[in-house]
Amino acid sequence: MYRNLKVVPRVVFGRGCLDQLDAILEPQRKGSGIMVFILDDFFEGKALEKRLPFRKGDLLLKVNVDKEPKTTGIDALTEQVKNFCGKDVMPDGVVGIGGGSILDTAKAVSLMLTNPGPSHEYQGWDLIQYPGIYHVGIPTLAGTGAEVSRTAVLTGPVRKLGLNSDHTVYDQVVLDPDLLEGVRESIPEQWFWTGMDCYIHNVEALCGTFVNEYARAFGEQSQVLCREVFLDHHPESDEKLMMASYFGGMSIAYSQVGACHALSYGLSYVLGLHHGIANSIVFDYLEEFYPDGVKEFRAMAEKNRIQIPRNLTADLSEAQMEKMIDVSMGMVPLWENCLGKDWQEKMSRDRMRKLFEKM
Ligand code: NAD
Ligand code: ZN
Repeated sequence: MYRNLKVVPRVVFGRGCLDQLDAILEPQRKGSGIMVFILDDFFEGKALEKRLPFRKGDLLLKVNVDKEPKTTGIDALTEQVKNFCGKDVMPDGVVGIGGGSILDTAKAVSLMLTNPGPSHEYQGWDLIQYPGIYHVGIPTLAGTGAEVSRTAVLTGPVRKLGLNSDHTVYDQVVLDPDLLEGVRESIPEQWFWTGMDCYIHNVEALCGTFVNEYARAFGEQSQVLCREVFLDHHPESDEKLMMASYFGGMSIAYSQVGACHALSYGLSYVLGLHHGIANSIVFDYLEEFYPDGVKEFRAMAEKNRIQIPRNLTADLSEAQMEKMIDVSMGMVPLWENCLGKDWQEKMSRDRMRKLFEKM
């Protein structure tokens, strides 16, 4: 069986296209008229907040993402929206404006407004029963591919796992490279970690056993763009990085990530590290899996004067190390993509422990 891929049906791209948001939302305001804007609280009081097309009766939620989204946080936001709208009233749309954390938050709130019960019950594949509220994604950082993916990654009581479903996919994305302007200068490390998430997605997809020409076409073009951004510092890097992220997301949608993401999920779960930085920490030690990719990644880190954190696992307790291994071992499709069907013969707990001990 081939995957019947759901993709984002509407995409607007270009500098300043955020100004079209009001016109894009207008035809959707046909029920309660209420739009819910979920904005990264980093933008509180900044020019971007003032550019959002609020109308009377809309709801603005400013959400902090110092910690990545949790199922409990999503449930609380969903309650807040329900209380605001009143009994039996739903908003006409949910708009997420921020990096991957906010893009996932807005997807999850849209879904949890129409699917009963707590969000952790939907962590997994195709557990979502009903379409969510119309949802729009507006990235302010580029790399995760969350703007195109069919998942909203959440940390729950037992695991970090996405709400993976066709309903998760955005109805509309607004890709405005202006929103990335200055990110490289103001938060160079975050710019790099999020960008490397994209670079690593591509390496893992292109080197994986699941890859096909669909995934390869997007993944290779995304790598070309990543090189122009992270090695050449091309003058149109904001445009290029935005498209690299989109293409990277399209590539893994028809393939899968691999060893780096499998290990990074374990590392993040136990140490509370953010996704992008955790991937970079792990990838630096994966020469045995991705020799060319790791070499180029190091050249990108050097070119951008980025220091990868080290010595993070030295003081872990035995229980923490075991948990890290459990979480990573649980990423079955990722290992299968990286090492093939017989991955368990190649990736023992002992081999994994030795990798973690280096980090
Ligand atoms: P992020 O959204 O976690 O944001 C990182 C930091 O950058 C935050 O402090 C945020 O406030 C700040 N920020 C955002 N935009 C900014 C801007 N323009 N200028 C200055 N600061 C800004 O970072 P991310 O790397 O984009 O996203 C990581 C999240 O994405 C993780 O939660 C991860 O699980 C998720 N993710 C999701 C998918 C998916 O397919 N759904 C894929 C990969 C990662
Ligand atoms: Zn990733």
